[in-house]
Amino acid sequence: MFLHRKETIMPVNVGTPDARFGQYLLEQFGGATGELTAALQYWVQSFHVTNAGIRDMLQDIAMEEFSHLEMVGKLIVQHTAKVDQTPVFDAPLFQMKGVGPHLVDSHGSAWTATYVQEGGNVVRDLRANVAAEAGARQTYEALIKRCDDEGTKKALTHLLTREITHAQMFMKALDAMGKLEDPMFGTVQPDDTVNVVFNLSHGDDHRGPWNEGKIYNGESFEYIADPQPRGAIPPSPVNPDDEKASPTRN
Ligand code: MN
Ligand code: MN
Repeated sequence: MFLHRKETIMPVNVGTPDARFGQYLLEQFGGATGELTAALQYWVQSFHVTNAGIRDMLQDIAMEEFSHLEMVGKLIVQHTAKVDQTPVFDAPLFQMKGVGPHLVDSHGSAWTATYVQEGGNVVRDLRANVAAEAGARQTYEALIKRCDDEGTKKALTHLLTREITHAQMFMKALDAMGKLEDPMFGTVQPDDTVNVVFNLSHGDDHRGPWNEGKIYNGESFEYIADPQPRGAIPPSPVNPDDEKASPTRN
């Protein structure tokens, strides 16, 4: 069951409305890194997670993301409240669609479920969530750097902060499963190249923990400085419909 409370999770008080900034804020309402994406991603994932603790965490965070979606929506509606007085070039999107929010990003592209990363495996999902939180945090930072309104900045700083907290929670959950540093999951075992690193961009080559030292299975990285192809030239394609070059003219 869903129960909605009309009070927002944190205050949303815009001092000076700025319709153009309202358009930027759509990035976190109907955009790829936005709160709708996060809320639906964690909520949908939670249905297939068998671990009760991780399922509970996903549902807690999903509900917080819906609360963030509400905050961003309230910010947008306040920023577009005086949209009639704004020159059309300041916020063309609201001039066409009316006062916000709308389920589009800052360029007017409609929100799409292809933004949502989920795939029936808790490790895969939690790793996608760490990436999702990084994207959200970066968008909030970009918004804060372009924001002149103190009330808006305060709300956005809270939203940015929470994405850091969520990233930490997802990383702790992965760590609890021993899957923060161990890249392997699932049941299909890798082949014998799992410890091999190919140096395929030559010049100014660097070594570091990503290509030397021990890996998750106790073996060490094998660094191939000058990789050679291991597959021979594959058979020519057979295509009866293809045009044949004349043997006498080429
Ligand atoms: Mn959020
Ligand atoms: Mn988050």
